[in-house]
Amino acid sequence: MNEIVVNQTTLWDSLMTMAKIGGLPGGGCCRLALSDTDGEGRDLFVKWCQEVGCDITVDQIGNIYARRAGRRNDAPAVSTGSHLDTQPHGGKFDGIYGVLAGLEVFRTLNNHKIETELPIDLIVWTNEEAARFHPPLTGSSTFIGNISLEDIHNVETIDGTRVAEDLARIGYLGKDVPGTRKLDSFFETHIEQGPILESENKTIGVVTQTQGMRFLTVNIFGEDGHAGTVPLCDRRDAMTGAAAMITFLNKLAIETDEQIRMTIGFLQVFPNSISTIPGHVCFTIDLRHPDKILLDTVGKRIEPALYSIADQHNLSIEMECNMEKSPVLFNEEMINLIQQAADKLGLTNRRILSGAGHDAMNLAQVVPTSMIFIPCEKGISHNEHENITSSDAAAGANVLLHAIIARANGLIQ
Ligand SMILES: [Zn+2]
Repeated sequence: MNEIVVNQTTLWDSLMTMAKIGGLPGGGCCRLALSDTDGEGRDLFVKWCQEVGCDITVDQIGNIYARRAGRRNDAPAVSTGSHLDTQPHGGKFDGIYGVLAGLEVFRTLNNHKIETELPIDLIVWTNEEAARFHPPLTGSSTFIGNISLEDIHNVETIDGTRVAEDLARIGYLGKDVPGTRKLDSFFETHIEQGPILESENKTIGVVTQTQGMRFLTVNIFGEDGHAGTVPLCDRRDAMTGAAAMITFLNKLAIETDEQIRMTIGFLQVFPNSISTIPGHVCFTIDLRHPDKILLDTVGKRIEPALYSIADQHNLSIEMECNMEKSPVLFNEEMINLIQQAADKLGLTNRRILSGAGHDAMNLAQVVPTSMIFIPCEKGISHNEHENITSSDAAAGANVLLHAIIARANGLIQ
């Protein structure tokens, strides 16, 4: 086998150089979307892309498109990319790897003087992480028309600035209208952010779908009271009700299906004082499953059950669904291109679903899309200790390289 491959050292050096911008003492990275450090990371990316001969375009939500010309430059571009922003205590690879793997593909195509039929766009999507302002996946959601430009420009960040003002300050308030760029397809390369590939000793995950998600907020209302005087049977203790609800939810999840993910990650107690019976508790539910019907069935059981528990505790309850996303099935042809590239390169692989949300979920609504996963150490992500090996990084980029060449030359086998 004599397939062309990316340069493992250059790819790794790019990852390590980018990681210095916003680098943290524990080895991680903090480049919050549209902060000055995000601006510096973007500048470095643009400089690298210009060095390999790309034309750079920026749209009005700050998405960056680096184009490598094809023989038919007016045709829609095969595209790839991910995000450069991180969580406050983020790692060096989540998102960044997908962007720099695309850059390495460009360098490799140049080194081998390979011209493709279709042009190729390498894209940096704005604010995937939502650590500085909401909603997550801002750039790709605006691109597919799920968020209006005016609304998102007016969103206030945690620093009290507006999104439009930040885009202008860091120099990425572009002119292109998001969504007008013609794309043929989208590949996103990403670290798995879970433990499956590593534990099964597989190098490549051929991603077939993302899971459905539902975010709920629950507010429970009782009555504040003196911890030393009110008898237990006379209390309207919102915390006791919340504890019963959380126990119920956990049991429901465990009994339903092993693929279900249910998390109570946020809880507020009011007034949060040692000697006051809590009169109000607020918590969130993050519910995920790959099957929409099962997700709906579980979702439907939650509301009546929590109302009944509230009743038993003499409490009132308000529930709100803050976000609902159906599972996204990726495009068969794109999945096959990734599978064929992995097999051709002799890389161990398996089909896998994505537990986390990604920009690819959005792109899948408008163009043929799929994702390539590589293992990450112990499945750790959104953590300064997030880690990958340089050979896995190169393997994922090689799969991307061959899948892109096949797609851009119409070599669907
Ligand atoms: Zn990511």
